[in-house]
Amino acid sequence: MSNISLPQNLNKLLQECIQLLDSQSSVINNLSTTERVLAYYSIYCKNKLHVLLVPEEYGGLSGSFSHAGIIVETLAYNYYNTLPTLLTTIHCYELIKSFADNNKKKWLLNAVNNTPKPLAFCLTEEHAGSDITSIQTTAIKNDNKIIINGKKVIVINSGIASFYLVIAQSSKKGRAGLNAFLIPETADNISFEKLEVSSFLHSVIGTVTFNNVTIDTQYQIGDEGSGYFLLTEMLDKGRPLVAACCVGAAQHALDIIIDHTKTRKQFSRYLYDFQGISFPIAEFETRLHAARLLYNDACEKIDNNEPFTKEASMAKYYASRLFIDITNFGMDTLGYRSIIDASEMKLLNDFAKTMMFIDGTENVQKMIIASLL
Ligand SMILES: Cc1cc2nc3c(=O)[nH]c(=O)nc-3n(C[C@H](O)[C@H](O)[C@H](O)COP(=O)(O)OP(=O)(O)OC[C@H]3O[C@@H](n4cnc5c(N)ncnc54)[C@H](O)[C@@H]3O)c2cc1C
Repeated sequence: MSNISLPQNLNKLLQECIQLLDSQSSVINNLSTTERVLAYYSIYCKNKLHVLLVPEEYGGLSGSFSHAGIIVETLAYNYYNTLPTLLTTIHCYELIKSFADNNKKKWLLNAVNNTPKPLAFCLTEEHAGSDITSIQTTAIKNDNKIIINGKKVIVINSGIASFYLVIAQSSKKGRAGLNAFLIPETADNISFEKLEVSSFLHSVIGTVTFNNVTIDTQYQIGDEGSGYFLLTEMLDKGRPLVAACCVGAAQHALDIIIDHTKTRKQFSRYLYDFQGISFPIAEFETRLHAARLLYNDACEKIDNNEPFTKEASMAKYYASRLFIDITNFGMDTLGYRSIIDASEMKLLNDFAKTMMFIDGTENVQKMIIASLL
């Protein structure tokens, strides 16, 4: 666990949240996917964790990124699969909080706060994955209206969100033409198609299509042409929290491996007594400590208003790679137990492989780090 401690109020909320999760998860897990996702999300909302980083004056908890990191890591240990819904929502709130003007901020945050539903972030398109400047969704101004057309191909909280934070191209091409919009679920002509993503057990994921969706100009966030900057800032700030999620879940995987290898005997010895097993475990324990320090460092830099882009990418790259390495080792070390259905290690391994894509792939993180050297 991290060396940073939580203030009393946040620690109390976190403990209450974990108690609720522990007491209700067996019932929630029998619900349909959408009901399940919303039930978990409502537990987070009850404890205001969805507005963890939002200032108190707007109804939030005024938490810092350093505190958010610890909370996400702690929850991820047992509830990693419930976190994509929450993390996406926290990322969206962060963009609104940071970039809407004061009047709009109050109005937008009120609107999104007064709903128990999560938020969705709509960026990726068929031709715009790692290369976000290739976005083809258009946002054309017409008097005081904006008309949005396009398709986002993979979106967490698709069909269950109250608002969709959409990145689209205005009249100019490339970076200079990108803008951010918050589209209410109630807008006409939005459609959703569900995707089956079994590795994200407690998330609803799907496409989002905008077919002449018409919104008022007040739903634009930030100045004209500011979308690329807002987007990169939001992705940068999201990465340490995604890293914290990977660290919490990876710690869980490593603890399963340690327990198993200290109780399973082969060749008359515990598996842990073979250095072929205990040395990789020692390496993973060391790397986990390093991953924790990396995300803590990135969070602290954000909190102190210091440059943090490189550190955020290093934290995400390192933690998501480590999560895959530990769970791959877990799949080997648990033997046949790891591949039978509902094996926790298999769930963790599948989740790890998917987390690699979230907030940019490993190569994208390396591109960012290299560009800043
Ligand atoms: C479960 C899940 C949920 C998601 N949720 C959302 C969401 O809510 N909203 C959203 O907008 N998006 C979401 N995404 C999309 C995610 O952000 C993208 O998958 C990611 O940005 C990569 O894009 P891509 O999959 O098209 O891969 P591509 O960009 O096609 O990349 C494919 C491979 O090529 C590599 N590559 C690409 N360019 C280079 C280069 N220049 N040099 C070296 N290697 C390169 C990549 O690292 C990757 O390994 C989600 C993805 C997943 C898996």
